[in-house]
Amino acid sequence: MPVKMKLDKRGIDLHLVRCPLCDDGLETVDHSLIFCNHSLDLWNRVFGWWNLGQFSNLSMGEILRGNLPVSSSSFGKKIWEAVEWVCAYFIWKNRNNMVFHGKCWTTPVALNEIQIKSFGWISRREKRKKIDWFSWLSNPSIYLNM
Ligand SMILES: [Zn+2]
Repeated sequence: MPVKMKLDKRGIDLHLVRCPLCDDGLETVDHSLIFCNHSLDLWNRVFGWWNLGQFSNLSMGEILRGNLPVSSSSFGKKIWEAVEWVCAYFIWKNRNNMVFHGKCWTTPVALNEIQIKSFGWISRREKRKKIDWFSWLSNPSIYLNM
């Protein structure tokens, strides 16, 4: 990810290396995807949607390696991993909207986009097990142990 701190270390003069969303931290990968208030708020919404409680301070590596113990089944791990990647994708897309267009989504809009995109990705790739749209929105954690 070409965050400002990485570009700065490579000698690209950006003048400002602070987070474009919160202006409250240096733009690193961990800050952008996890620790930025905008990202934390979105991860908390995603965790709430999945009935997983409060999102805690985990490194991006743990999240993207799927090391969160949310499921014991391989299907459950796969769909949770897909949701994590879609969330990270939208966080980065939202950051780019701010950098290039000067605007960002509200968290409820971003969560809705994550629900739609992750359902689409999983439904198209998973042929053996069907995911119901209504239960995907209302109680997706039922799929964690399928
Ligand atoms: Zn930030």
